[in-house]
Amino acid sequence: MEYCKKCVYPKNTAVKLDWDDEGVCSGCRYFEELDRADWKERRLILDRLLDRYRNSGNTYDCIIPVSGGKDSHYQTYLIKEVYGLNPLLVTFNHICSPLLGIKNMANIVEKFKVDHIRYTPNPEVIRKLMKYTLKKMGDACWFCQTGVVTVPIQIAVRYRIPLIVWGEHGWSHLFGKSKLSETVKFSTEERTKLFMRGLSVDQVLKDNPEFERRDLSWAIYPSEEEIQKVGISGIYLGNYLRWNQKEITEFVIKNFGFKTRPKARTYNTYADVDCHLCSGTNDYLKYLKYGYGRATDHVSQDIREGRITRQEGIKLLKKYEHVRPEDLDTFFKEMDLTEEELMKIVEPMRDPNVWQKQADGSWAKKVSIDPDNLVDISGVEEIEKRLNFVKNWAPEELDPRWHF
Ligand SMILES: [Zn+2]
Repeated sequence: MEYCKKCVYPKNTAVKLDWDDEGVCSGCRYFEELDRADWKERRLILDRLLDRYRNSGNTYDCIIPVSGGKDSHYQTYLIKEVYGLNPLLVTFNHICSPLLGIKNMANIVEKFKVDHIRYTPNPEVIRKLMKYTLKKMGDACWFCQTGVVTVPIQIAVRYRIPLIVWGEHGWSHLFGKSKLSETVKFSTEERTKLFMRGLSVDQVLKDNPEFERRDLSWAIYPSEEEIQKVGISGIYLGNYLRWNQKEITEFVIKNFGFKTRPKARTYNTYADVDCHLCSGTNDYLKYLKYGYGRATDHVSQDIREGRITRQEGIKLLKKYEHVRPEDLDTFFKEMDLTEEELMKIVEPMRDPNVWQKQADGSWAKKVSIDPDNLVDISGVEEIEKRLNFVKNWAPEELDPRWHF
């Protein structure tokens, strides 16, 4: 297995990276592009753009899709307090929120004095969908990735709100799949390809005759005509303002009381606070299939933003990448599934370039970023201490249940 010479991504990522002749991935090259960008100029473009929407005459000037995390706090702060727009906050409730995520969301509404719609789909439908996509593609989060990009557009159409403001370009940004000058494309095709990983609503209905179309109404994208009638456009704030995770997290903790996780799957306690699955079970599934997971995302980001060296990153990977997440048992209980059943589902999806079945039936990784075991994990606590910025733990809110 080849790994990026700068970060720690392997060549077999679920979303394919591009690689140049020097063995460097497109995500790393994208970060170099960010370093070269003229951020003063980009900020002026944003100023002019938002001027057009302030006091638009609508009840709301824009929609901010929010999850309750650090970025949600920061987006709302910028739009409401810095730019003076009147936003409507919209959350697709993925039903796997820990109490901590719900409290952080309530904190945003209270601190910034904004209106908020929290759209909760029927949990029974969601559980069935999770099982279906788990079996079909080894991923329980398809419904969530679909809902978070669909529901804000549905609400924009319904309330006639012409602007949607996202934060960072998310994983697309991690993999260098976006350009700074890019605006959001609102086509069903783009959405299906990028966020829904090729699985369309029509296919879901075909595979699951027990569902009616209206069971999936939150997943049905408005028509091109409806979108054009309101003139909806979308932006990523991270394309105009340098989006530094460390600075943003410290800022929203200090100024607005954002709460971090008491315990996380990796050393990073401020990411994914709003979902059990993203940083737990679903990430572990990725590890079982491809041999890498969230730790690779976090380490690569920290290397690219200059907080650690690649060698230090490998120490962190060795400590965290393979760890079984604590929320796995909650997942089994909520889904009425056993660990054995899960392993059976995943087995045919394991990348044969990465995994090898042992004589006793267990699986061993046959590739490593450090094949000769030259990097030991001594001093890893010091690195973690350096990375885990300001802590704002809420241990009493570490609640393993799912909340609706
Ligand atoms: Zn890279």
